[in-house]
Amino acid sequence: MNLTVEFRLYTRLYKGILENRLGLWTSRTGLIVRLEDLDTGRKGYGEIAPFPGFRSETYDQAFAFVNRLCYPIGKPHPPVITEETIAGIPEHLTATRFGFGCALSHLSAPEDSSPMADHPQAALLPRGSQALEVWPAYWEAGYRTFKWKIALMDPAREISLLDKLLSALPPEAKLRLDANGNLTLAQAQEWLNACDPQRIEFLEQPLDPEQKEDLLQLAQESPIPLALDESVSTLADLQEWAPQWPGIFVLKVPLLGFVDQTRSFLSNLRTQGQPLDLVFSSVLETSIARKTALALAQEFHNPKRAMGFGVQAWFDLEDGFEDANPDRIWEHLS
Ligand code: MG
Repeated sequence: MNLTVEFRLYTRLYKGILENRLGLWTSRTGLIVRLEDLDTGRKGYGEIAPFPGFRSETYDQAFAFVNRLCYPIGKPHPPVITEETIAGIPEHLTATRFGFGCALSHLSAPEDSSPMADHPQAALLPRGSQALEVWPAYWEAGYRTFKWKIALMDPAREISLLDKLLSALPPEAKLRLDANGNLTLAQAQEWLNACDPQRIEFLEQPLDPEQKEDLLQLAQESPIPLALDESVSTLADLQEWAPQWPGIFVLKVPLLGFVDQTRSFLSNLRTQGQPLDLVFSSVLETSIARKTALALAQEFHNPKRAMGFGVQAWFDLEDGFEDANPDRIWEHLS
């Protein structure tokens, strides 16, 4: 197949400020790539959406690679590439592999424009005490599982906020805690002692991904399930952790790599009778990457748990990036 390749950058503003251990974020940046099959004239789109704090390549690394590919020195733009070019994207550029793999498969099978999965979603609450003000609106909208970021302030103060939040939430609400790898081992133990297994569904990424032994030990001791998220950013990470981790795996499909490789890894485990406890989650991507993430989620998500795509409140839904038609998102970026 002879393909031309082009890309456009996007910046999408958050409503409010998103906070994680690497800082405060007011917007999300990424790249949209477009392939055109020179024989059929068909176009395929993919999204490259690395996220700060996760173990795929950074935005700058993805941009450098894609920019070099699309503007080869001394050759015309857009350049002509082949499927082999895409298969040869270096292994460490997992978000770039995801984006190009999607664009390639869209050429032969444009996905339907199914908007949101029918499955229950978890709503991402704002940090700290703001969660207390915001959850009722989500409850009204039908959400029953909530996710709250922790490890952003002193644990004692945060644990007392947790008590307030749990007293406010109806008893049937489930709460997920996400530390984004930012607790010390002692703090994680303090948190786990404070977690009521009836109310807390799981604690996500208590420790830094580098603390593998501590994570494993903590999972053995914990009264509630623990989930890995940052630790399993890429398919290589997931392959390493799958045989040893007793808890949940939070998967952000746009970071993992080529989606067909992710799919075959997960379906092999299922065939072997060793399915993983998977929670598919948003990486605040646009509708282009989300379609593929949701398609995989529908195949492999643990049906007993809410999915993690309840992030609509963080965006202006009229900003153009929710459009089900990728042609229009592309035009929007011109
Ligand atoms: Mg997380």
